[in-house]
Amino acid sequence: MNSNPSPASDRCHNCGAVPLRRAPGYENFFRVTSDCKPWPTGGQMGLCETCGLVQAVTNQDWENESREIYTGYNIYHQSGGIEQTVFNPATGKGRARSDAIVEGLLPTAKLPVTGRLLDMGCGNGAFLRACSRSLPGWVFCGSEFDTRHRAAVEAIRGVEKLYSGPLTEISGEFDMISLIHVLEHIPAPTAFLKQVATKLKPGGWLVVEVPDCLINPFFLLVADHASHFSPGSLSAVVGGAGFEVLQAGDAWVAKEISLLARKPMSPPASAPVCPPAEAERTYNNWKFLNESIAKAKALEGRGAWGLFGTSIGATWLDAQLQNTAMFFVDEDPHRIGKQHERRPIHAVKDIPAGASVFIVLPTVLAERIAGRLRLIRPDVNLVTP
Ligand SMILES: [Zn+2]
Repeated sequence: MNSNPSPASDRCHNCGAVPLRRAPGYENFFRVTSDCKPWPTGGQMGLCETCGLVQAVTNQDWENESREIYTGYNIYHQSGGIEQTVFNPATGKGRARSDAIVEGLLPTAKLPVTGRLLDMGCGNGAFLRACSRSLPGWVFCGSEFDTRHRAAVEAIRGVEKLYSGPLTEISGEFDMISLIHVLEHIPAPTAFLKQVATKLKPGGWLVVEVPDCLINPFFLLVADHASHFSPGSLSAVVGGAGFEVLQAGDAWVAKEISLLARKPMSPPASAPVCPPAEAERTYNNWKFLNESIAKAKALEGRGAWGLFGTSIGATWLDAQLQNTAMFFVDEDPHRIGKQHERRPIHAVKDIPAGASVFIVLPTVLAERIAGRLRLIRPDVNLVTP
């Protein structure tokens, strides 16, 4: 009988199953921080074949790196502190991410006129601000360990208080709790959500927003993400904590999973499971990254060329190619004209004539954008992954 427990690094951080199936060669990829700064090689990624969660190996190295990343955290720095704009790929029309989530949430959840919302990991208050505009009868609390934005958050209309300590110190119960780009950072997310559930009234709403790693392979490269969710694995994690999952998908925000769940009046009979084929596809997305490197590398030494995007994908590929791109291209007016990684961010109309541009997005989205941009700039060589 072998009584030696498996090392922590072989265990799924969510369900505890062993061993993780490791992605060979992932440790050679450069990575990127969730606030879009390049990060060195050396990470590890694996798939839990039991719960279907693709994940970082959350060992001591990962803990140390995450701490270092949060110490230097600089939210939305590419756009001077203004919240990320999310785009409709067909029209190119953009709006603030929080507004997109609230616009999706309101008709779906049919919320009462009054209520109390806790936004966990509220950052500088972008989601609270959007909720405050759309839910005038509600009161709001935020929680955030980083207190740099306390004055700004507490100045939002309807905000009671910003909490900066653990969940147990937050007083009272809530009608809705939101976790906007929070859950992917936390090891053992099911255990964490069981704690969150204690602060929610029976029948209360849970809103979770995370990157969609099934649709977007580039999200697998975020160094400080503990979990690389797909809609199925996120539903399994949330359902496993006792919530009733109502919907999970990219209908509200492209490339992201917006999940809506309720705390049921009585425990549900069964929890959702992640379809194995979906888990497999999400895990296999890391192979797509090598193909993107090869395609972009072919543009080097053939005249002016740049990368479309200034977020996760483009920041990663630029580091991977050792900064050989000459410029970036973005459609976000808050980013155009600024610099990213010490090179200019051009509007589409300002791409140098005859240049090549690699669109660092999942293939389907990239093709859609290329089709639209070719009508405006037929002289530019647009390359998709
Ligand atoms: Zn697992």
